Amino acid sequence: MSIEDFERYPLTFGPSPIHPLDRLTAHLGGARIWAKREDCNSGLAYGGNKTRKLEYIVPDVLASGADTLVSIGGHQSNHTRQVAAVAARLGLKAVLVQEKWVDWPDAWGDTRLDETVGNILLSRIMGADVRLDPSGFDIGIRSSWEDALREVAEAGGTPYPIPAGASEHPLGGLGFANWAYEVQRQEAELGVFFDTIVVCTVTGSTHAGMIAGFAGQDRPRTVLGVDASATLEKTRAQVARIARHTAELIGLGRDLRDDEITVLEGWAGDLYGIPVQSTLDAITLCGSLEGMIVDPVYEGKSMAGLVDMVRDGRIPRESNVLYAHLGGQPALNAYAGSFG
Ligand code: PLP
Repeated sequence: MSIEDFERYPLTFGPSPIHPLDRLTAHLGGARIWAKREDCNSGLAYGGNKTRKLEYIVPDVLASGADTLVSIGGHQSNHTRQVAAVAARLGLKAVLVQEKWVDWPDAWGDTRLDETVGNILLSRIMGADVRLDPSGFDIGIRSSWEDALREVAEAGGTPYPIPAGASEHPLGGLGFANWAYEVQRQEAELGVFFDTIVVCTVTGSTHAGMIAGFAGQDRPRTVLGVDASATLEKTRAQVARIARHTAELIGLGRDLRDDEITVLEGWAGDLYGIPVQSTLDAITLCGSLEGMIVDPVYEGKSMAGLVDMVRDGRIPRESNVLYAHLGGQPALNAYAGSFG
């Protein structure tokens, strides 16, 4: 088997664009930095990394005869917003369990924005059945999600389960294994080799898919996953498990080495979803130098990692770095109080 043997239902515009970040590069004075933009990869509700994962899951949804996608995430989950968009596109229903993953006062001094604006607003607009749940952050399988699946079936529907971040789904790593091959083709077109990839990792299958896809290319490339879960060991274990599973699916033909699986700690802060100073600095740096918007939950944390690693030389000066911009901007609306 190879990645080509898996059916893909197109939800994206095509290959996502890659472009240099020249002013950020000059500002940091180190490696040359480029971005590959999943934040504008699709016309489905702003797209993002889940849209690519779902391209490989939709054929299974359609084959199953399901009429309702059932998924789970935080109130400001980008994943559930993308599930809602895909359900709308396919003419299916969506039931979304939205847990209270972030407990942090917003601009109004409570969490009203978290429950009403940004991603959750978009999911409601797209007709999803949004169910608020008081449980806190956890990347694992949740009973509230299993309850929702049962309730859809009891009401006579046919549910299709999509776990948090689509990560624990058996096909969840394929979207970003495909991304790795897409990068290889774009490198040939651009005449560049990206020796370092920087990617945010939480539920794990984005990073894991990349590891599996690049492992088959046999070039000296480092994939640096920057943890934004603040539950490092869970994310590390989940990335390793999904990477190995995906590598097997696409016929890598060897086990992944431990040194191919790198989940870095240092930029998540103490809690998922709470920006720290380095996150806010990375957001304003990218915005003011490049007009590129990153969010306080995910991309602001991976960008903070990139900035520090270029500055302190962990990423060498002669590197070509590809920053995987995975989307996530709608959540910014819930963090209005952080920006004056
Ligand atoms: N970046 C954004 C914008 C996301 O929505 C997510 C989702 O969790 C991630 C990064 C992390 O991806 P993953 O959950 O596949 O590790």
